[in-house]
Amino acid sequence: EMTLSPAIFERRESRVRSYSRSFPRLFASAKNATLYGADGRAYIDFLAGCSSLNYGHNDPDMQQALLDYVASDGIAHGLDLFTEAKQAFLAAYEETILKPRGMDYKLMFTGPTGANAVEAALKLARKVTGRTNVIAFTNGFHGMTLGALAATGNASKRDGAGAPLPGIHRAPFEGYFGPDIDTADLLARMLDDPSGGVDAPAAILVEPVQGEGGLNAASPEWLQRIEAIARKHGALFIVDDIQAGCGRTGRFFSFEGFGLSPDIITQAKSLSGMGLPLALALIKPEHDIWKPAEHNGTFRGNNHAFVTARVALEKFWSDDAFAETVRTKGAHLETRLRAIAARHGLAVRGRGMMLGIDTGDPQGAARICARCFDEGLIIETSGSRDEVVKILCPLTIAPADLDRGLDIVADAFEAV
Ligand code: PLP
Repeated sequence: EMTLSPAIFERRESRVRSYSRSFPRLFASAKNATLYGADGRAYIDFLAGCSSLNYGHNDPDMQQALLDYVASDGIAHGLDLFTEAKQAFLAAYEETILKPRGMDYKLMFTGPTGANAVEAALKLARKVTGRTNVIAFTNGFHGMTLGALAATGNASKRDGAGAPLPGIHRAPFEGYFGPDIDTADLLARMLDDPSGGVDAPAAILVEPVQGEGGLNAASPEWLQRIEAIARKHGALFIVDDIQAGCGRTGRFFSFEGFGLSPDIITQAKSLSGMGLPLALALIKPEHDIWKPAEHNGTFRGNNHAFVTARVALEKFWSDDAFAETVRTKGAHLETRLRAIAARHGLAVRGRGMMLGIDTGDPQGAARICARCFDEGLIIETSGSRDEVVKILCPLTIAPADLDRGLDIVADAFEAV
């Protein structure tokens, strides 16, 4: 029995650590959808670095490219110098992502994490419009820095951070008040009404599928109406695709095919392919108005991440084959989750391979996750009360591992 006695962690690491509390083991290595404890025990990974490991742990091609790059004295840190690694990443992004989709965006490296991309998007929207208000949604999650946190609707994440920043207005996400209340219409009326108290916003910021907020998937029609409201009021339409993007829903962008044309798209998490920090704001060329260094930062563009990201783009996105496997696996996953949920009278939420079962019971959900961990499965909750058991496995998971993990989930729902 490998109950961790984490002396150095207890003594020296801040109490703010969280995942290590849910999964109290010493981990040593990982391959694709399996993490290995220091004692050699294997754990199936249904968390995938909160969607940072869509291509699994240690993809062999990314691993080799990184080893080769480091061994050749490739530049690790180059500020925002033109480097060959960045050039190759930009060319791959243009060829595999933008051109086939007929998309015209400039790539802005904002700083290493998703929150940096959101902050940069909000700053840019304020500059472009000369306004300060931002509309964000109930149960949205955008990061832990002050601005991104203020835009975060999930109140449990904001506890203790003090008063929200002024200028952030919360609108109800689709379905928030149940199926009969049209929340897009509520937003339209909030902005149309001159006495509504909300001055014209700089931006409307939305996740097509709310990851941390409980796997709430917005319909294409609702998102189209939100974009139309942004256009009508001269606000920028910002899509936060940090968790739902990079293939999670079976398309590279989670809103692909929805007929949307966001002014800004944020990406991070699985962008680097191998879990290295890399974040991006895709901006329409007409919004590329910042003066040089008006947004800056030491770690904008990590060359190691460019190397692995390029491999990920070329390996998985040169054609539709990988996305097709994700859609097929996602359909299987949904069928199995619906069977589990139906036995307990519960609902399945989400889209693609970003799905969860809403237990309605935070304590029960926590017990289910704890039991799964005892049985060798890493799985977490999300939602405003952490009531949704969330499946976020690597998209590359072997079908047998997916089914084994789902067997553990099914047993845990029976047992708890
Ligand atoms: N936006 C969304 C939709 C996220 O899910 C997250 C992280 O979970 C973030 C932003 C923040 O990203 P990071 O944790 O890399 O700062």
